[in-house]
Amino acid sequence: MRVLIADDDSSYRRLLEAILRYRGYEILEAPDGQAAWNMLQNESIPFVITDWMMPGLDGPALINRIRQAQFPHYTYIILLTARGGQDDIVGGLQSGADDYLTKPCDLGELRARVAIGERILDLEMRLREAMGKLEMLATYDSLTGLLNRRALIQLANREIARAQRESSPLSAIMMDLDYFKQINDRHGHLIGDQALMLLATLIKRGKREYDLAGRWGGEEFFIVLPGAMLGEAESVAERLREEINNSPIHLTNQELVYFHSSFGIAGLDMEENDDSFQKLVLHADIALYQAKNSGRDRVCIFSPEAKD
Ligand SMILES: [Mg+2]
Repeated sequence: MRVLIADDDSSYRRLLEAILRYRGYEILEAPDGQAAWNMLQNESIPFVITDWMMPGLDGPALINRIRQAQFPHYTYIILLTARGGQDDIVGGLQSGADDYLTKPCDLGELRARVAIGERILDLEMRLREAMGKLEMLATYDSLTGLLNRRALIQLANREIARAQRESSPLSAIMMDLDYFKQINDRHGHLIGDQALMLLATLIKRGKREYDLAGRWGGEEFFIVLPGAMLGEAESVAERLREEINNSPIHLTNQELVYFHSSFGIAGLDMEENDDSFQKLVLHADIALYQAKNSGRDRVCIFSPEAKD
């Protein structure tokens, strides 16, 4: 673990360094608060031991900056102080330090306190990993690995706001696996799931890198294409449609199961600001309905006249 020691007293720095290096820590040194602050901004340092009294930026001011900064990790801070009054200790901790040691410090106590900090940082790291996993679960559909509906809505709204701000186009594709119920009935749900997974793989491969693709529900998928005019979305959908038609599932008895999809395309109405996402979904849905009604396995673009 990397530990930064900030102290204007070089003999103290050397003493702490010797003790901590011996314990296997990687030590960085700063002769004052400003130098420490510069290092913290340029490198990832999770542990800081800082003196209180330093020229320029003192200990509490340095701690204050660290606490205001948006580092991706927690910084554990021990404040060193020659002061020993109860008020000073409270003040030091209130500045944001996790712990304090009074100078001259007992070396056994120093080692013990650093070990506590290390344990807390370790807990924090494991907590962050667990939260990352939870976020994954909350963001992605477990079967297909595409965004789930909730995450898709959130990200789509962000893209729509950006498109409106920048007056750039944005299109969407609502797609649906044709006769999904029949696939399930005839071949079983495992093959149905396989079809959904294959579809998701083809969508991931066929969409542009910055497009958002999510499972809308059941056998329905929704793709948001920032910057794309209707024609571009149509090309993406058309390519995807052909790709799906040419990608059968191989059953164990050598039988091939072909499946098809229908697509509805709609674009963001640049005049509208309210309920844009709902409207986009509604329009793409109407177009999809049209594709279904006119024979499936095709791409339809929403036109306002078709609304009634
Ligand atoms: Mg000092």
